[in-house]
Amino acid sequence: MANRVEQDRDPTAETATPPAQPNAVYGSDEASLGDPVLELEGVVKQFGPETAVSGVDLTVHEGELLTLLGPSGCGKTTTLRTLAGLEAPTAGEIRVADEVVAGDDVFVDPENRDVGMVFQEFALFPHLTVAENVAFGLTDADETATEERVAELLELVGLAEYGDRSPTDLSGGQRQRVALARSLAPEPDVLLLDEPFSNLDVRLRVEMREEVRRILKEAGVTAISVTHDQEEALSISDRVAVMNDGQIEQVAAPGELFEHPESRFVASFIGQAAFLPARIERDGIQTAIGSFDRSLLKGMTDEYVDTDVDVLVRPDDLRANPTTEASADGEVVQRQYTGPSFVYHVELGDGSIVRCLHNHAENFDVGDSVDVELVADHTLMWYPVR
Ligand code: ATP
Repeated sequence: MANRVEQDRDPTAETATPPAQPNAVYGSDEASLGDPVLELEGVVKQFGPETAVSGVDLTVHEGELLTLLGPSGCGKTTTLRTLAGLEAPTAGEIRVADEVVAGDDVFVDPENRDVGMVFQEFALFPHLTVAENVAFGLTDADETATEERVAELLELVGLAEYGDRSPTDLSGGQRQRVALARSLAPEPDVLLLDEPFSNLDVRLRVEMREEVRRILKEAGVTAISVTHDQEEALSISDRVAVMNDGQIEQVAAPGELFEHPESRFVASFIGQAAFLPARIERDGIQTAIGSFDRSLLKGMTDEYVDTDVDVLVRPDDLRANPTTEASADGEVVQRQYTGPSFVYHVELGDGSIVRCLHNHAENFDVGDSVDVELVADHTLMWYPVR
């Protein structure tokens, strides 16, 4: 059992100052990405007194699939609508393939932007066939070129045999494929996808995630998707931009985002996060589950000696081992059964609550005394306490 540390803190509170060094963006090597296709610089969107988007800077590269992820009301859809030209930004500049489409005295209408959009409800024309729906945006091409392009796209989305059908005779997943094919037909520089899986049932959603990613990658299009579903964002994207309160908190590849969240907000929004209070000392760190070497904490420096920090611990970083009440680190206060596994919530002596992942056969009861063991085989992220 370790020394007790500061009590009664709010582990979900944001830190005023993030650590200087440890939480820098890891490995998202922008230099290795393609040329910039879409650039947002200081984009602001106000609706009267309401600021929906407050200074977004973002670059999306050729062929990249980037997802805007964040809680309801954080400004994702508004950002997407400014890209499509459905809203004019209050300030800032948007460039598509080096052309300013919104900025000082410039506003290019949606139909004149090389930007396609796939809507949540797919918005197919029920009175047109699948092939006619796909051909809808191809007004400039002659008949033969249109037929060829439609055939190529139906092949790409796996609906080569469905051209003569009515969209009303298709399943949800098939309708989504048609909507994608239609948006890709005019070869837009950028494709925008607004909550693309929200109209599909859970099973189909998982299947279509992989399929949509395959189609976008085969088409080679640069795409921006919007979702509040972190699993979806992590599974389909090359990079994810996490938004909070009108701003982007972090842009990174899915693995980097999960392993190295730069803020408590990102840590909490991506996966299950608990924050273990820790006291930094010159020769180690003290926590309610034991003392550890300072090298456990990513990028920890002398600057933080004699200060308190919160350490990010995810359920798979910890195990609970039954013990006597006298020698326990804490007590099981909640058990979540998910089928293959249990997640036990353990209240530690300092009042903080951590979660421990166990397989379904490791059955503890609420009230059991446990020692909490750190089993992580990687360094841990941490955040200074205000
Ligand atoms: P959701 O996931 O719920 O769609 P979101 O992250 O896409 O949320 P937005 O729809 O962009 O969020 O909204 C951001 C903020 O701007 C919200 O507070 C919303 O109420 C506000 N807002 C959006 N559109 C308008 C509008 N046309 N008029 C006034 N306020 C708006």
